[in-house]
Amino acid sequence: MNPQFETISAANSYFAFKDNISNVASFLKLDTVIDFTVLSKFYNNILNNPKSSFGKHFWKKFAIQNQNIKKFKGKTINYKFKIVLKRVKEMKRITSVSKWYFEPNCEKCNKRCCPDEILPWQLNDNGNHYCNCEFVKCITKRDFLASKYKNKIKKLNRRREYLIKQLDENYIKTDDAFRQKEEFDNMPSFKSLIPILKNLKKNARYKSTRSQSQRLYLEVKRLYQQENNERPNMNYKAPPDNKDDDDLGLNLNFSDTEDDYF
Ligand SMILES: [Zn+2]
Repeated sequence: MNPQFETISAANSYFAFKDNISNVASFLKLDTVIDFTVLSKFYNNILNNPKSSFGKHFWKKFAIQNQNIKKFKGKTINYKFKIVLKRVKEMKRITSVSKWYFEPNCEKCNKRCCPDEILPWQLNDNGNHYCNCEFVKCITKRDFLASKYKNKIKKLNRRREYLIKQLDENYIKTDDAFRQKEEFDNMPSFKSLIPILKNLKKNARYKSTRSQSQRLYLEVKRLYQQENNERPNMNYKAPPDNKDDDDLGLNLNFSDTEDDYF
């Protein structure tokens, strides 16, 4: 049964809300719904009136659509209670701390304590190791968790900064490697320098240039030889019984065979 209204406008807003109750219920936050600050005292009274079918309908819709509470078959189900029950369970889960981690120091006696649950080693402490104050003064589990999460975020942020720095360094090194590779890829074989050195060592105007060219020519020739897969081994030792073989000096001097390579 609908309530009586003194003005048409009050009736209109009531029915506008009532007609859209399913949609409204889907979007409101639980904190808003619990004390209904968003609504007038009038609606608050209706929704909190245990005999109001409108209120009952609202809580049911809100519980199922917004709070993921399953639909019960029984008609005596109090969905508002189900919502609060679920909320309490969630809050207990979020604020719980294992007894293995929560043994703060009592500010009165400066000994470890655990006022919220029985720990056998504290209860049966004969050595006066743990706090035995009737009323302790220490951080709460909420304080403990607040600082734990704050520190965790701080630690992760520091780690992230370190990783970003490493990533930056990695980018710089990768750029360097690309630059080196490009420089290398664009470098021709030593073979390409040989004709010009050959010409210089024979035809340069001054003797000093010719002799320098000769030395450079030999060096470039050796470097070119190193670019071949099959090449002389500088560490080759001739077999001991082969003393007549004067190949020990290796083929560093290519003057006899220089033309074989081109
Ligand atoms: Zn104490």
